[in-house]
Amino acid sequence: MPDPTLTAARRDALRRRVRDAGLSALLVTALVNVRYLTGFTGSQARVLVTADGDADVFVTDGRYREQAEAEVPGMERIVNPTPGWLRERLGGRESLGVESQHLPWDDVRDLQRRLGDVTVTPAPEHVEALRQAKDDAELDALRRACRIGDRAFAALVGWVRPGMTEREVAVRLERTMVDLGAAGSSFDTIVASGPNSAIPHHRPAQRRLWSGDLLKVDFGALVDGYHSDMTRTVAIGEPDARLRRVHDVVREAQAAGLAAAVCGAAAAEVDRACRAIIDAAGHREDFTHGTGHGVGLQIHERPLLSPRSVATLADRMAVTVEPGVYLPGVGGVRIEDTVIVGPAGAAGPESLTRSPRGLLVV
Ligand code: ZN
Ligand code: ZN
Repeated sequence: MPDPTLTAARRDALRRRVRDAGLSALLVTALVNVRYLTGFTGSQARVLVTADGDADVFVTDGRYREQAEAEVPGMERIVNPTPGWLRERLGGRESLGVESQHLPWDDVRDLQRRLGDVTVTPAPEHVEALRQAKDDAELDALRRACRIGDRAFAALVGWVRPGMTEREVAVRLERTMVDLGAAGSSFDTIVASGPNSAIPHHRPAQRRLWSGDLLKVDFGALVDGYHSDMTRTVAIGEPDARLRRVHDVVREAQAAGLAAAVCGAAAAEVDRACRAIIDAAGHREDFTHGTGHGVGLQIHERPLLSPRSVATLADRMAVTVEPGVYLPGVGGVRIEDTVIVGPAGAAGPESLTRSPRGLLVV
C-alpha cells in the first residue's frame, strides 16, 4: 500500500492541473485513478480534488467502510453519502471537471441535474497524464513484477517440452508467477506455437509443441497493482534458417528501439527506429502493430509508442518496446521488454525485464 504522504503528493500534483485548467474541482471516478490518488483497492469509490484543497474528500459505500479506513487513512472520508453530498461539498464553487473519458453520459446528465448552477465540464485524462512518470514506490513495484516475470521465464526454459499444449504452458507459467509471489497474471498469457506464433495476440489452445516450432510467450506478473510485460520467442529444437533470420531482425529492431527510448525523444521516433530495421530487411508489411505502450497500474496506458503518437518520452516513464515480424501460416517473432526512461542525458532506458534476448533453443 502506498504511504499516505505519497498519495497526498499525487493529489497535490493533480490540484495544480485542476487550477491550470481553470476548474474549481475535479471528480475522479475511474477506479484505477482513485487507487493512484488514495491507495484504495476496492471496487466502488470516487474522489473529489478541489483547486483550493479545502474540500477534498474520498467517498465510498458501506461495503468498504473498513477497507477505506485501512487504505485511505490520510484523507477525509464519506461512507454512504446522501444524494446531495457533492453539491454541499462544492459549496459556492462554480465549475466541476469530470473524467469524461470514463464517466457515462447518463451519469454526467444526472450530475448536472443535481448540481444546479455548477458548470460540469469534460476534463479527461488529467490523472492518466500524471501516472505516466512513475514515483519511487511505483518503480519498486514494477521492478518486483518484472523480476518475477524473468524468474518465471527462466523456469519455463527448464520445463517446456515438445508434446505440451499451448494451454498447459500458459497455465504452468501463470502458476509459476503466483508461486513466485505475484498476485496473478497481468493479462491473459499469450502462448503461441508454430504457425500460431504469427498471430500477434493468439489465445493459447490445444495445439501441441513440436520440434522446429517457434514458441512465442507474452506474459506478465501483477504485484501491488503494477503490471510487468515481457515477450520472448524461443525455438523448440533447431528452427529453419528463415525463422532464425526473422529472430535476428526483430532483435536488432528491438535494440534500435531501446536505444531510441530516451528522455526528450518523440514516442513515434522509437517506433520509427524499430520499423526502419524491419523495413530494410524486407518485412515492412509483417510488423502489424505499434511498437509499445506505457505500463503501470494498467497493462496498457499512456504514452503509446506508435507511428501516430504525439507523446514525448520523459524521465521515469515506464514503457514497453515490442517490435514483431509475423509471417502468416509460418511463424512469428516478438521481443518485448518493460523499460524505464532515464533522466535527460542518460544513454538509454533501464530495462526492468532482463531475460536473454537471443534465440534460445530449448
Ligand atoms: Zn506483452
Ligand atoms: Zn505489451
